[in-house]
Amino acid sequence: MQDKIDHLRTLPIPAQSLFIGGAWQASRNGATMEVISPIDGTVLTTIADAGADDVDLAVAAARAAFEKGAWSKAAPAERKKILLRIADLIDKHALELAVLGVRDNGTEISMALKAEPGSAAGTFRYYAEAIDKVYGEIAPTAENVLGLIHRAPIGVVAAIVPWNFPMMIGAWKVAPALAAGNSVVLKPAEGASLTLLRLAELCAEAGLPEGVFNVVTGRGAVSGEALGLHMDIDVLAFTGSGPVGRRLLEYSARSNLKRVYLELGGKSPNVVFADAPSIDQAAKVSAYGIFRNSGQVCIAGSRLLVERSIHEEFSEKVAKIAAGMKLGDPLQLTTEAGAISSEIQLKKDLGFAEQALAEGATLRTGGERILQETGGFYMQPTVFDVTPDMTLAKEEAFGPILSVIPFNTEDDALRIANATEYGLASAVWTANLSRAHRMVRDIKAGVVHVNTYGGADNTVPLGGVKQSGNGHDKSLHALDKYVDLKTAWIQL
Ligand code: ADP
Repeated sequence: MQDKIDHLRTLPIPAQSLFIGGAWQASRNGATMEVISPIDGTVLTTIADAGADDVDLAVAAARAAFEKGAWSKAAPAERKKILLRIADLIDKHALELAVLGVRDNGTEISMALKAEPGSAAGTFRYYAEAIDKVYGEIAPTAENVLGLIHRAPIGVVAAIVPWNFPMMIGAWKVAPALAAGNSVVLKPAEGASLTLLRLAELCAEAGLPEGVFNVVTGRGAVSGEALGLHMDIDVLAFTGSGPVGRRLLEYSARSNLKRVYLELGGKSPNVVFADAPSIDQAAKVSAYGIFRNSGQVCIAGSRLLVERSIHEEFSEKVAKIAAGMKLGDPLQLTTEAGAISSEIQLKKDLGFAEQALAEGATLRTGGERILQETGGFYMQPTVFDVTPDMTLAKEEAFGPILSVIPFNTEDDALRIANATEYGLASAVWTANLSRAHRMVRDIKAGVVHVNTYGGADNTVPLGGVKQSGNGHDKSLHALDKYVDLKTAWIQL
């Protein structure tokens, strides 16, 4: 497979356009943006920098397709066939998509293969298989009335997604929205648009009617804002940063009160008790739970809470694993952590490390930029001992930086775990079943892993509490975001 990857990485990538109404179109203003590869800092290609008028066109195409009904009124079993074809095409082009994505955002290929095309194909298949098995309801009304609850498609859904896992997160929103019969306008992040543009092409090849799926690329502050403020978008599903999430809620309030669903990252606690079933396994999974994809994972276990009796031993194990990880060229199958997605992000990550030192945190390993000679953006996996009041214990770095905090008792662990404005993911390592259940009950987070970190599939929802957001991706519950419950009250 390495041979094929080495070939694919050399292929030139043509300048990219917008995908609107089933056709490739330049942006109305002709503006483009350079795509810089984080692998070596070179210019890969250009993408269109869409303006508000391009967004208008895309939304109009989506609305026209919805009203026409070729998709929105198609029988679920018909939609299923096309969604399954999309999944098959993603699988067929998996290696090409994975390499394209890695050249764009720097994720190590071993992870990208599973998490990007692999996951996206699975998500399309999951909602394809589900959609002709989801029933409406008959309400328990009085005998002389028939109350029907329909699950109707809503209309036009906008999805705004980030750069860390564009296909996986894109599919989490696009697949259920399409399955439910909606039209979609997707805006990828500036730093990871290429695979989603290719997805648009595959959707067309699979037979998705024109206008049902549109992709507008460009700057968040321009095309993203135009989507947020649009008067003809019914639902906006977002994954990204807290500040942008707040803006989207404001845009909604200032425009048409579109429903806004947010997934906004976290500062997830990974709590290791001295009675963890295997300390070595816990150390390895904890290290990989933060350092894979260079920590650019919304559920990354970035706060490691360790019971004081094993704190030193455990922290050293994790630091050793971190220091021994194979870093560098993300297109080598053996690489365990690839590049930081952009120079700006790398500077932010280094800034967090500098600030941690300035605040008195103790560096166990890492902290430095590496491989600068490649022209790319790389940083060592970094482990700091911190106290809960330090910036690094509170703010999401979104980089390869782990903060370790000791605790004394279960109550202590819970207090520290919950001392965050976020509530996305978490984990607890213990062989004590009652303690595991207590922690599952009391940790305020959308997911609590027990004796593992980061495991999931399409059958379980992912969503945050507190300032990690609202609404859920994945599972049948995600369909609820993309349907209207519509009542028919029939007097008999
Ligand atoms: P990250 O820190 O992961 O880059 P952002 O929240 O900045 O997260 O970006 C996530 C997505 O939001 C990207 O597609 C980006 O273009 C988009 N975005 C950024 N700013 C805005 C905005 N003002 N309005 C709408 N979308 C935006």
